[in-house]
Order: sequence, then structure tokens, then C-alpha cells
Amino acid sequence: MKIICIGRNYIDHAKELQNPVPKNPLVFMKPPSALLVNNKPFYYPEFTKDLHHEVEVVLKIARNGRHVQPEFAPRYYEKIALGIDFTARDVQSELKKKGHPWEIAKGFDGSAVLSEFVHISDFEDPSAIEFRLTKNGNNVQLGNTKDLIFDFDYLITYVSRYFKLQQGDLIYTGTPAGVGPVVIGDKLEGFLNTKNGEQLMFNCNIK
Ligand code: MG
Repeated sequence: MKIICIGRNYIDHAKELQNPVPKNPLVFMKPPSALLVNNKPFYYPEFTKDLHHEVEVVLKIARNGRHVQPEFAPRYYEKIALGIDFTARDVQSELKKKGHPWEIAKGFDGSAVLSEFVHISDFEDPSAIEFRLTKNGNNVQLGNTKDLIFDFDYLITYVSRYFKLQQGDLIYTGTPAGVGPVVIGDKLEGFLNTKNGEQLMFNCNIK
């Protein structure tokens, strides 16, 4: 099982970190050991002083495939979750400066928060899914997948050119604007807007 992540997939987020808007999806991975499920607490790692939340809609890959053509891409995801791509921003900035890979800033233990899954048919419009993240009860990130630079189908097509998609793989589709630091004691909650109204998908206490 792979955890594939997309960076800079919302224009407002690319701008807030002074990054250029990409011409192709920016792809990186986290190891399976990064997963944090069942609302378990997150333990603040000792190697960072600037841990950021990035709330993201997550696709679960439904079947195996390589070189998926755009017209078939919708067959490859049936379920959606909400997650956090925790990022050690200070570590990432140092690595970026040197042109080094990001893994230790992005793929550490617990860095991939994941909620339960919702079926795609439970959304009014699967191409315009609203989601948000609160920190200690206040909205910090508001997103809508209609604002994705590269939509779900494009991501499936693009990623499967390089990596065979396998049932159960996850794609973290990128974060909207509003990323920011968390500290020990913070409580994060993620919400998805479904046909049945807004659903609390996860909570995550920082310890
Ligand atoms: Mg991210």
C-alpha cells in the first residue's frame, strides 16, 4: 500500500508559501507507517519547532491499474476520506533550500492522519466537495475540490503513468490555503460536506 501525496494543488496555497503554481502535479510519498487512524493522538516530534497542519481530501484507490486513460479514471476511486498531511515546515524549508528530498519533513510517523471513508455517491457533486479544518474550535482551513488545479481524474491519469495504482493505495490531493502551526494541546477537527450535511470526519489531539 502506497500513500501518494500531491503538493501545491490549490492556487491560494501555492501563493501563501511563495511557491510557483506548478505545470504538472507535484508528487511525493509517505510510507505506510505514517498513517494515523481511529482519532489517535498525534505526538509532536522532537525534530521540529514548526509543525504545520495541511487538511486534504483523500482518495482510496479501488482497483489496480497502470497508464489509466482519463475517461476511465473515475473507475479508480469510489471512496473518499479526509486527512492531514502533517509537515515539519522548518525541516522542509531547509531541505528545499538544498534541493534535497522532503521525506523526513513529510513522511514521519503519524504524519498522515486519515478518517473513515465516505462513498463518492454520498456527495451532491463529487467535483465540488467542501471541507474544513478547525483548530480549537476555530476555522483555519476552508476548501472546495472545485478549486483543485489538477482534479481527481487528472491525478489518477498522471500518477499511474509512473506508479502502478494498487487497490487500497491512498492519494492525498493537496491542501487549500490556511496552513499553519500546531502546538501541544491543540485539538484539530476535520469536516466533510455530504448529502446528509456536514460530517465530523476526524479529531486529532496534539500531545
Ligand atoms: Mg500537503
